[in-house]
Amino acid sequence: MENGSVILIRRWPAMLCWLLLCLVPLTNQQQARAGNVGTTQWSDDETHFNRTLDSILVPRVVGSRGHQQVRDYLVQSLNGLGFQTEVDKFKQRVPVLGELTFSNVVGTINPQAQNFLALACHYDSKYFPNDPGFVGATDSAVPCAILLNTAKTLSGYLQKQFQNRNDLGLMLIFFDGEEAFKDWTETDSVYGSKHLASKLARTRSGAQVAGKQAPRNIDRIEVLVLLDLIGARNPKFSSFYMNTHGLHSSLVQIEMNLRAAGKLEGNNNMFLNQISGGLVDDDHRPFLEDNVPVLHLVSTPFPDVWHTPRDNAANLHWPSIRNFNRVFRSFVYEYLHRHTAPVNLRYY
Ligand SMILES: [Zn+2]
Repeated sequence: MENGSVILIRRWPAMLCWLLLCLVPLTNQQQARAGNVGTTQWSDDETHFNRTLDSILVPRVVGSRGHQQVRDYLVQSLNGLGFQTEVDKFKQRVPVLGELTFSNVVGTINPQAQNFLALACHYDSKYFPNDPGFVGATDSAVPCAILLNTAKTLSGYLQKQFQNRNDLGLMLIFFDGEEAFKDWTETDSVYGSKHLASKLARTRSGAQVAGKQAPRNIDRIEVLVLLDLIGARNPKFSSFYMNTHGLHSSLVQIEMNLRAAGKLEGNNNMFLNQISGGLVDDDHRPFLEDNVPVLHLVSTPFPDVWHTPRDNAANLHWPSIRNFNRVFRSFVYEYLHRHTAPVNLRYY
């Protein structure tokens, strides 16, 4: 029971901060600001989104030519958007295809900062022996394009006001090898995220406090926001973890505000103010196991094109993608802009 109280004390201040953003009645001025979030300051850039998606939407099974091209494209794009980019490269034997070289791509703004907001998706496409043309549009070409488009549409802020802050950095993680090569198991899946989580857990940097050694790099991630299976018509996103429920509620609120301001298309509410009855295994697993708070933005139920040849450009639903981009962009901006103290959502 004693441990339980400690957990509550450590969790609540930060959670309260986010819950307050959502639940406390806003002043008129705040309401006006919230209503405008992401609509006037940070405009859409559909040309950039479409160009980016075109470059990613090719078969990109680990070890293939398309995979290498997409990896290089991600690195170039991140560099062009002012991120410091690293490739976390490693070799590993996998079922069916044997030894492969994997490369996680990680872009960072303010790498010296104390803590990070990490946004992530996977860029490999699944290997189907009978479908070499599989492009995984929702899985996860669109999420990758969303991350880059978020950085592009916020670049005015990121490269001016946000740049050089020491409290917070922004990390964009493109995991490699999320997909199983044979059947999804704990070992045959999330190859890249396991490698990166373990590397971040073994390395330390950042400021030393009161004679203690510098924190483990994985402990500098305030929250890992993982996007997956996005791009189909009318997606639904539930909240999966209690410690990030306040953040999920912020998405619900931002979507409501943008809809009320007439900034969204159609009437589908994507973000549901409800806790999911189940969990979805994904790239966040190794981070979750090391106590990193996770906001898992995966549409449930899964898109009906999931792991079929129909998961392609023809079956994407553009209004849903544009809406997601608008809500997500506002969320990221609000997180960075309102951040004044470390956010500790960790369970222990
Ligand atoms: Zn998949």
